[in-house]
Amino acid sequence: MANSDDLPVRDDLRGQSPYGAPQIDVPVLLNVNENPYPPSESLVADVAIAVADATRSLNRYPDRDARALRADLAAYLLEESGVALTPGQVWAANGSNEVMLQLMQTFGGPGRVALGFSPTYSMYPDYCRDTFTRYVTVPRAVDFTVDLDSALAAIAEHRPSVVLLASPNNPTGTALSLDAVRAILAEAHGVVVVDEAYAEFRHAGVPSALELLADHPRLVVTRTMSKAFALAGARVGYLAASEAVVDAVQLVRLPYHLSSITQAVARSALAHAGELQAQVALLREQRDALVEWLRGRGHVVADSDANFIFFGLFDDRHAIWQGLLERGVLIRETGPDHWLRVSVGTPQENAAFRAALEEVTA
Ligand SMILES: *Cc1c(COP(=O)(O)O)cnc(C)c1O
Repeated sequence: MANSDDLPVRDDLRGQSPYGAPQIDVPVLLNVNENPYPPSESLVADVAIAVADATRSLNRYPDRDARALRADLAAYLLEESGVALTPGQVWAANGSNEVMLQLMQTFGGPGRVALGFSPTYSMYPDYCRDTFTRYVTVPRAVDFTVDLDSALAAIAEHRPSVVLLASPNNPTGTALSLDAVRAILAEAHGVVVVDEAYAEFRHAGVPSALELLADHPRLVVTRTMSKAFALAGARVGYLAASEAVVDAVQLVRLPYHLSSITQAVARSALAHAGELQAQVALLREQRDALVEWLRGRGHVVADSDANFIFFGLFDDRHAIWQGLLERGVLIRETGPDHWLRVSVGTPQENAAFRAALEEVTA
């Protein structure tokens, strides 16, 4: 690799490494929380037609405002969470990573603070660095819930212009109660972002923060098509908020940021949302069974409302990770020491993980 020491790279980027979940080619990939089931053949056929159609006008720039897609996303959220939103309350971009960066570009910035609750998503410090926003974290409680007393104290102390709350949280799987979100909204003067990348996997009865949007113009809920929708390769994420938040984000979005092809693919997938529900239900059952199994073997396991499980405690977690890898199972070494994260796969993949873990911990 070329040596960048001679380049005038920003001081705060020198010596840093890019985002890198290891991409290793092994039979069982349970490391980045993807949906293990590829799109159905009927979705593949619909996408092919939609892409051909979009290709006929690729000489033109895409719909800059992605109006049809945003209307479809609003309809999906109504169906999924029972919350009615206007298309103007929804905004889409290339993955919720881009949505999040746009939010930080709009509401963060030099001299401003974003508050997170660690351990949490490893990209939050990067979005902050990239937007010159100071990132402050408050440790979570031992069960990985957000401790409200310390959250409210940190908000009073740091006056964050952005509060970042992942729910269910990555890497722990922890869902946040709406009472906690309400309490944080009441104390914070800035925007409160609830990152619901894994919302579709929450247990029945666990509400979405979408329910609070009607009363809270500074609340932003982000979602993605990368996880439950089995569309990680298409790069589609979105947010739901007040129309004022969506209008503000327009100031920083790049012109024509979301390609016509991406918009077409996302709309085709949304038309197949019904098909995915059975699959999500199966993944949830598999998750609950795997949590039980891990607990039965004496592991410490965090409650999970996501499609992954955070478990431990290992004196040498790297050895466990390596042992699984040698048996063809790739999981993720992330978050606090002594813990590992495994994504929920197909029943066959989960069986391979269980067998490999039994051997490695024998
Ligand atoms: C996977 C993930 C995302 C989604 O990223 P995309 O850019 O939409 O693929 C967002 N937030 C968290 C916490 C995640 O784990």
